[in-house]
Amino acid sequence: MIIEVSPTNIQVVKGDITKIKVDCIVNAANTSLLGGGGVDGAIHRAGGSVILEECRKIIAKQGGCKVGEAVITTAGNLPSNFVIHTVGPVWNKGNNNEREKLSNCYMNSLQLAVAHNCNTIAFPSISTGVYRFPKDEAAKIAVDAVYKFISNTSLINEVIFVCFDDENYAFIKSQLATKGI
Ligand code: ADP
Repeated sequence: MIIEVSPTNIQVVKGDITKIKVDCIVNAANTSLLGGGGVDGAIHRAGGSVILEECRKIIAKQGGCKVGEAVITTAGNLPSNFVIHTVGPVWNKGNNNEREKLSNCYMNSLQLAVAHNCNTIAFPSISTGVYRFPKDEAAKIAVDAVYKFISNTSLINEVIFVCFDDENYAFIKSQLATKGI
């Protein structure tokens, strides 16, 4: 499914984000930036040790990454040029500003992409794995955040939502459909 919101194409695909060729892919990291399971593990495995080396430099400088914030490294052996590591919130019944923090992940990642002249970006479904954010709500927040960001800039040409499972794919697709295009 491809939607054109001039000048940005928005797409949802099902698959593995490590195979996607864009200027930058986003990683659903954790605050330590030291790698983990899920999409984080897949990105570090496919990208190679250079990503972790750069994460360690960031850790030395600023001690990891806070929830909702984002940092950037190169992408090692991945087909993309950069990896933006953002830390999604752990779902806690919605009582801990999880929605706002998840939205910040998308906004701050897009901001960092633009700052590094990246015009094309791919997102995984942040927080919907071990962090247990409800997938339907996460999809709405993701799509709303991307629409909000691209309505204020002409610097992003393509946003790809890369969903690993059918549920996330269906939820993102229906959220994009609500945008009426
Ligand atoms: P979080 O800790 O933010 O929940 P996870 O990595 O556990 O992060 O899950 C985030 C989402 O990434 C989940 O929907 C999971 O299915 C998905 N995912 C796992 N591996 C990949 C991959 N290789 N490419 C894209 N998405 C992936």
